[in-house]
Amino acid sequence: MKEKKLRIIPLGGLGEVGKNMTVYEYGGEILVVDAGMMFPDNDMIGIDYIIPDFEYIKQRADKVRGIVITHGHEDHTGAIGHLLESVDAPVYATPLTLGMIGAKLNRRGFDHKTAKLQTLKAGETVQIGPFKVHAFHVCHSVPDGIGLGIESPAGLVVHTGDYKFDHTPVDNWPTDYAKLAEFQRRGVLALLADSTNAERAGWTPSERVVDDALDKVFREAKGRIIIASFASLISRMQQVGNAALKHQRKLAFAGTSMIDNAKIARKLGYLNLPDDLIISLEEANNMRASDVTVMCTGSQGEPTSILGKISTGTHRLLDVKTGDTIVLSSHPIPGNEENVYRTINRLFERGANVIYEAIAPVHVSGHASQEEMKLLMHLTQPQFFIPIHGELRQLHQHALLAQQIGIPEKNIAVILNGQSVEFSDGKMRLGERIPAAYVYVDGAGVGDVSKDVMHDREVLSEEGVMVINLIMDKFTGKPSREPEIISRGFIAYRDAEDLMAGLRTRVIDTATRANGNIQKDIEQAVSNYLYKETQRRPMIFVNVVKN
Ligand SMILES: [Zn+2]
Ligand SMILES: [Zn+2]
Repeated sequence: MKEKKLRIIPLGGLGEVGKNMTVYEYGGEILVVDAGMMFPDNDMIGIDYIIPDFEYIKQRADKVRGIVITHGHEDHTGAIGHLLESVDAPVYATPLTLGMIGAKLNRRGFDHKTAKLQTLKAGETVQIGPFKVHAFHVCHSVPDGIGLGIESPAGLVVHTGDYKFDHTPVDNWPTDYAKLAEFQRRGVLALLADSTNAERAGWTPSERVVDDALDKVFREAKGRIIIASFASLISRMQQVGNAALKHQRKLAFAGTSMIDNAKIARKLGYLNLPDDLIISLEEANNMRASDVTVMCTGSQGEPTSILGKISTGTHRLLDVKTGDTIVLSSHPIPGNEENVYRTINRLFERGANVIYEAIAPVHVSGHASQEEMKLLMHLTQPQFFIPIHGELRQLHQHALLAQQIGIPEKNIAVILNGQSVEFSDGKMRLGERIPAAYVYVDGAGVGDVSKDVMHDREVLSEEGVMVINLIMDKFTGKPSREPEIISRGFIAYRDAEDLMAGLRTRVIDTATRANGNIQKDIEQAVSNYLYKETQRRPMIFVNVVKN
């Protein structure tokens, strides 16, 4: 007989910001909540993005009864295509989220008609294997987000997804407080809640404050207005559209993902903009600057995004002109600050006036701050609490808040990816640890980039490379001529006569004495010598030819 306990396994999003994914397992049957990706750190060279290690799910692919996606952000949807390659289970999400997932699967060349996409609207309940899943609406920086009440024989678990308590959201659809209170009446076994802003005191401001900031921008701008944001920030598109209407400007979208999302959101009624407001980028280029608004991607300073290309003057259709006002309507994701500020500097250099979060409230967070987190706990009154979505320090801060409102420390589990938690007979205990490493996606390859490859790329980019070609006499076993030494990114030849002379001597000595693996010995000797002389270790390749 299968053991009757609820097991929750976070596979992503705990101890990091991004690639959210959680497994709910009861009686061997599995429900997956979210399948996100994460952007790489600056030192992860050549990596496009990172997805969770879902080997655990793959091994049990026939036990997966469903995948529920809480909202359309990449850190919740970005790995869905990868997951569907190994798991043939229905995907449940709200209409807008499903639309965004479908467009994303199309862009990846995934035939999403073979995927079983099922609509799960806020307020609806669906049976997924042993789980009765209640979807409730939450406010966030993308419309149509949901949190989940997940009922199993072990009890009711509330899983928030990303949320905030905005009383005046742009789409006039506040978080479903009544549902949360209803959960409380039924008794909440555990709460898993978003910790992103656990360090922020007070309340997250309403999206409405952005309206005033945008209005000021539109009032004062003389030339074109270019607004960069996330492709998924539909509410910001609405706000920019409203401002453009009010100030008699036209609006063009730039960037494939942004154009796709705007189209889907308009079709499904989440974005209400009149047809004659929207123009193409080509049309925008033939209009008076003071009539034009452009909304584009690239608020994180990504070099390949529209704004990134504008900042380096490499976009085919958009070039910065003096008098342009460029707004970065977003908050730099931790780790992206450097890129963002470099982009801002370049845009100023090219003659634009740049407005960003630090100088005007052109963005507000989509995540709850401390007072909202406490209100959520009061509304749901969970017996157990597991902070999710955040770096370890944010998870800890969230746990402290839970203690402040009276949840005993022993009922709070601050855990990281891979640490399973089990619930049975109203008790919580830590279960086994499941591998939950990074899976690097590099071009079209998934997971074929190992930690070693990452390390090599880092060495190559920081220390350069040295290639040593050596010809050995196969009869005497000694070098038959001077070794050829090629160095790239390490040191210029002419700057280092002495170093190179010393290097050649080391190579010949080592080759003459070597009786085992000549390549390895030379590599070691060269590496040690260079480190002694320069405190640096480039990557070294040794070719030995015998003739
Ligand atoms: Zn989100
Ligand atoms: Zn998120």
